[in-house]
Amino acid sequence: MSDGIGKLDVIVIGAGLSGLASALLAVEAGKTVRVLEAHAKPGGRIRSVFDERTNAFVADLGPSWVWPAFQPVIGRWLEKLGLETFAQFDAGEAVLDYGPDQPAQTALIPGQEGNERVVGGSQALVDAMVSKLPQGMVLTSTPATAVQVMDAGVLVGAGNAVLTAGQVIVALPPRLALSSIDWKSALPGGLQDALGSMPTWMAPHAKVAVLYDRPFWREAGLSGRIASRAGPLVEAHDHCGSEGEPAALWGFIGLSPEARAALGDELEVHIRAQLKRCFGEAIPEPLAVHVEDWAKNRFVASPGDLSGPITHPDVGPEALREVYFDGRLCFAGAETAHQSPGLIEGAFDAAERVVLSLQIATK
Ligand SMILES: Cc1cc2nc3c(=O)[nH]c(=O)nc-3n(C[C@H](O)[C@H](O)[C@H](O)COP(=O)(O)OP(=O)(O)OC[C@H]3O[C@@H](n4cnc5c(N)ncnc54)[C@H](O)[C@@H]3O)c2cc1C
Repeated sequence: MSDGIGKLDVIVIGAGLSGLASALLAVEAGKTVRVLEAHAKPGGRIRSVFDERTNAFVADLGPSWVWPAFQPVIGRWLEKLGLETFAQFDAGEAVLDYGPDQPAQTALIPGQEGNERVVGGSQALVDAMVSKLPQGMVLTSTPATAVQVMDAGVLVGAGNAVLTAGQVIVALPPRLALSSIDWKSALPGGLQDALGSMPTWMAPHAKVAVLYDRPFWREAGLSGRIASRAGPLVEAHDHCGSEGEPAALWGFIGLSPEARAALGDELEVHIRAQLKRCFGEAIPEPLAVHVEDWAKNRFVASPGDLSGPITHPDVGPEALREVYFDGRLCFAGAETAHQSPGLIEGAFDAAERVVLSLQIATK
């Protein structure tokens, strides 16, 4: 039953934003912590394209935007992590795409108010937190498989290893927390219902980053936005670096996970054709097209996320934010948040909440 680590104060399951932020706050509160992460890298729904030569950040395949003007929690964390933001580029007309049978049109269309990008991409949030955690604290490629809560503490199984701690913070999308962990201690029915009914934001979606040698759309006075009824990209946006380079666009694919899977490699062919249809046959060929299909990520998407309606999560039931087993168990995924559930801000809001609850944990 021993993993050689000994008894910790806190085990965090999941090294996405909410897990990393929870771990950072727990360390700052003087707790001994380990973070178990299923993937080979921390970050969760933050996934990035890097320059092959320099390893510098190039594009987001997960979230791109924060809204610091409206999101006070984000504002605090950007300051804490020493990160800056810049406004999403939206100058010029957007392209309205009606499909191959009608010429594309351009028009000024209203943008989202206050959407900003983190300098260095959303990846910078992950890197900044990892750099503040003691080395070796995040155990990657280590999925938690079982949780048992006892009077004396919590046992967390990870393959053949068992870690022990005073408290466990489950920083996973709620549905995944319910379906992918073997709960040796029965969870209250109300909690199970709350976990199982909370959709995982963006889990059924796929995002594309298209890299170019120059931002030809800006040169033509266009914003880089596409609004399309035909697809495969139903919307696209400028995604150039803060100083205008490297040049990139990103877009959401408006096809179901099944339709994407059926297209396979053909999907990229359709995306390239759509970009020419929207911006003209003379545009340069992309340097690269990166597609991230989040529905295929079993450490993000649960079966219920793929078949249910795609709606932004409302604030979930209180049961998601309660502390269980005398303060030994609580949940921190972004979808559990009271503020901005499912969003980056929700991940930080959830982390702040669970770490306040550490103060009532019995060791
Ligand atoms: C395409 C896309 C676009 C988005 N756009 C935006 C945006 O513009 N603005 C915004 O605010 N938000 C956006 N979001 C949402 C944002 O990414 C999430 O709110 C945030 O990243 C969630 O962080 P999290 O830590 O709660 O969960 P996750 O990032 O899902 O982290 C959970 C972690 O747990 C790990 N894990 C899973 N199972 C186990 C296990 N059994 N044991 C150990 N580890 C496990 C996973 O590998 C993962 O690292 C977007 C998301 C996507 C996918």
